[in-house]
Amino acid sequence: MRYRSTRGDTRARNFSDILLAGLADDGGLYMPESWPQFTPDEWRSLRGLPYADLAARVIAPFTEGAIDFATLLRLCTEAYADFDHPAVAPLVEIENGLFSLELFHGPTLAFKDMAMQLLGKLFEHVLTERGERVTIVGATSGDTGSAAIEAFRGSRHLSVAILHPRGRTSDVQRRQMTTVKEDNILNIAVEGTFDDCQDLVKAMFADKPFREEVRLSAVNSINWARIAAQIPYYVRAALTLGAPDRAVSFAVPTGNFGNVLAAWAASKMGLPIHRLFIGSNRNDILTRFLDCNDMSVRGVEPSLSPSMDIQVSSNFERLLFELLDRDSEACARIMTQFRATGRMDVPPTAWDRARAVFSGLHLSDEQTLDEMRELYRNSHYLADPHTAIGIAAARRGHEQGVPMVAAATAHPAKFPDAVIKATGIHPPLPEKLADLFKRAERFEILPNDLKVVESAVRTHLRLG
Ligand SMILES: *Cc1c(COP(=O)(O)O)cnc(C)c1O
Repeated sequence: MRYRSTRGDTRARNFSDILLAGLADDGGLYMPESWPQFTPDEWRSLRGLPYADLAARVIAPFTEGAIDFATLLRLCTEAYADFDHPAVAPLVEIENGLFSLELFHGPTLAFKDMAMQLLGKLFEHVLTERGERVTIVGATSGDTGSAAIEAFRGSRHLSVAILHPRGRTSDVQRRQMTTVKEDNILNIAVEGTFDDCQDLVKAMFADKPFREEVRLSAVNSINWARIAAQIPYYVRAALTLGAPDRAVSFAVPTGNFGNVLAAWAASKMGLPIHRLFIGSNRNDILTRFLDCNDMSVRGVEPSLSPSMDIQVSSNFERLLFELLDRDSEACARIMTQFRATGRMDVPPTAWDRARAVFSGLHLSDEQTLDEMRELYRNSHYLADPHTAIGIAAARRGHEQGVPMVAAATAHPAKFPDAVIKATGIHPPLPEKLADLFKRAERFEILPNDLKVVESAVRTHLRLG
């Protein structure tokens, strides 16, 4: 499989190249040159496989020409070995015909582990093979940083530096990052906001001498490998509920559009998906787009579901590229204009195509708490705020005769304050994290200053 950029760079790249590169040189996102197709019989043959085996079979067309199947299968087996549920991503029926797909049984209790655990193994494999070393930097408001640290800790081929805004992540989220002992991990608490952290990361990438000196790499959600690694759980859920002989709908709480894009990718591969529902909080740019073709940026407002407090959903560019029949010139033009004006001009035909598959629903914090309370009262299901938004969207879109699956993206114990407020129940941390608040923390507090942060990354690299 070869990959090309959404903005026109068609120099052929294979999976390993784009894994390490992340973003394309022209600022676009990598897309597979074509969509692998599975026939109904091929889908059926995946029924009943252990999760890691199914994942390897679904991902194999994307890694073809770069990683052989036996290796991929081994990496998938290792990646999903430490999940604390035998099904890895179990389906739980919460109402008649409405299911929760639990994606939070990995080490950091959020769905980011589903992809990041495999990315850790893939990086290790490719870097060993090439004899290379890289430095991964990232900014986080919580879930991505801990998932990355957990996936890459102890690697001899890479260092990881994660920037978080000092005092602005939840205690559970911060401790999941700062209590990791391995020397290749550096946590930086920046005196600033999440946006400041993100700007520092962008500035490090823009600083070419620095970028080349430390060999920067990124694992944010625009990395295609993360999308690819998220496709298998949609496949498995659909097969369990009767696909390919029956279509299934999904509802996904959405921020950067990465998770739901994987469901859509599964449909491009021939999986019968009826409709896709997007849930958002008050940061509702995607819902506004679907409702009235208004994709305009407003300020980010904090909510009970912080992992969805996003104004620009970067992975949307991949959908746009497809909606435009892969016209990369038009895609580049629209994205450049969006950057400049904060408003995306999506042609009406492309908008119609999006609405034929996607619908959106946004919830206020109040409505989110109501949904959490009702879920607990009626179904005895304890949901975190992100998951509750997904389930609300699922309930709205549920049609008679079409199974509906809501992606449950975080364990309730990851957001205890909201859960207590809604239900009065204090969700306990799973056993593997029970002593989280007793572990020693390690992080550096640094000013919002590029040179200071770069110098810390450099020093860490020399010691690590
Ligand atoms: C990251 C995250 C999301 C949003 O996923 P996207 O792929 O960015 O749309 C939703 N819920 C939780 C708990 C997350 O960590």
